[in-house]
Amino acid sequence: MEHVDIAIIGAGPAGAAAAITAANAGASVVVFDKAGYGRDKVCGDGLTPRAVGALNALDINMDDAHRICGLRMIAGKVARELDWPTTDRFPNHGAVWPRRRLDAALIDAATKAGADVRFNAEAHPVFDDDGRVVGVSAGDTELRAGLTIVAAGAPGSVARQLGADRVPDEPFGLAIRTYAETPRHADEHLEACLTLRDEHGTPVPGYGWMFPAGDGTVNIGVGALSTMKGFKKLNLNSLLESYRQLVNDDWQLGPNLERPRAWRLPMSTTRRHGPGWVAIGDAAGLVNPMNGEGIDYGLESGMLAVECFLDDPASAPARYDDLVGERFDAFLRTGRRFSFLIGHPWILRSGLRLSVSTTAIANITLAVMGNLVDNTTPGSAGKVMWAADRTLAAADPILRRTRAAA
Ligand SMILES: Cc1cc2nc3c(=O)[nH]c(=O)nc-3n(C[C@H](O)[C@H](O)[C@H](O)COP(=O)(O)OP(=O)(O)OC[C@H]3O[C@@H](n4cnc5c(N)ncnc54)[C@H](O)[C@@H]3O)c2cc1C
Repeated sequence: MEHVDIAIIGAGPAGAAAAITAANAGASVVVFDKAGYGRDKVCGDGLTPRAVGALNALDINMDDAHRICGLRMIAGKVARELDWPTTDRFPNHGAVWPRRRLDAALIDAATKAGADVRFNAEAHPVFDDDGRVVGVSAGDTELRAGLTIVAAGAPGSVARQLGADRVPDEPFGLAIRTYAETPRHADEHLEACLTLRDEHGTPVPGYGWMFPAGDGTVNIGVGALSTMKGFKKLNLNSLLESYRQLVNDDWQLGPNLERPRAWRLPMSTTRRHGPGWVAIGDAAGLVNPMNGEGIDYGLESGMLAVECFLDDPASAPARYDDLVGERFDAFLRTGRRFSFLIGHPWILRSGLRLSVSTTAIANITLAVMGNLVDNTTPGSAGKVMWAADRTLAAADPILRRTRAAA
């Protein structure tokens, strides 16, 4: 039987980041993906400065990506064009990089570093008699691994096998996107419209986006949080169509280049480690509830999981769980509580008015939502984050009791 240091299920950004880190350190690593090389992923393709920082750490050449210097935040008639904050921790630019190309660049880097990447190979964990994950099977192949990394995206069959599904009471997101041609494809700002309404006029906690890709097209999409009243009946296609009408003239949009496609944004998990395995990226529920960003969290958690294994294989799963928790749990928990709060239309309306009321406040909103607060020099955004963290923690039981009915 083949034996490797690390087996990875899933070759998205999270799995590729883990593979690059492992192979660069000289570990033997096999990555399985059920899709073929060059697969697409339903996504907004937006990279915050935090994500660019993670790609830099992986030494990924970003010449193929479209550079973005900030965000145009729109709430009703108010529009604020903001530059990304300057911190000593993250670069001051983001990017838009269509996933077909971003994911190919990442997995190419993994292969170049020495990872063995196998496409069209649906994989599942293999357990020993004690319930420990000892490796992976894919078709006729079975291999043993010192650590199995689950990077299979939003929970599906692998998550069910591991008992690592979404926490039923916690929020999650749904989003839909397509592409269209536009003369404004080279814009240097992402655009987010925070005042979406569904077909019944109910304000939607979420946003509509125009993410210019610099290649003649823009990624247009809408996303919503499960905390809104009427979420189960929300028609994402209609929401996208009404958003399209709103932005059509400003962006001189051509027809949709493909059928709009929707997918889930997991924001919690019941477990992200166990004997012999860890989950990273979407498989670990690591999506920022405040902006729907998940690429960065996939990259960062992928690197971290491997670093823990390289330090000490025996303690890696538990150590990874601690470290990824230290880095993200408080922020993501605050984000989830915040999403309960904005599930109430009247809070959402007044919150939005406040969040873009002045440029200074909009800048704080941008830094907080993007998790771009620099811990060493936190400034106003850090103070707001600190206060929100404590206030929402105290309000947590009330938020859950009074959540808007689905
Ligand atoms: C509409 C939408 C818009 C979004 N916009 C943004 C955005 O602008 N910016 C951002 O940062 N994030 C965005 N996100 C979130 C982002 O797409 C995810 O967080 C990100 O793709 C997570 O990466 P991952 O590697 O964990 O999982 P994925 O990218 O989902 O990759 C998982 C891989 O695992 C493979 N796989 C699954 N099961 C198996 C199996 N059993 N065996 C083998 N392979 C398997 C799949 O084929 C896939 O290639 C968006 C999400 C949606 C739905």
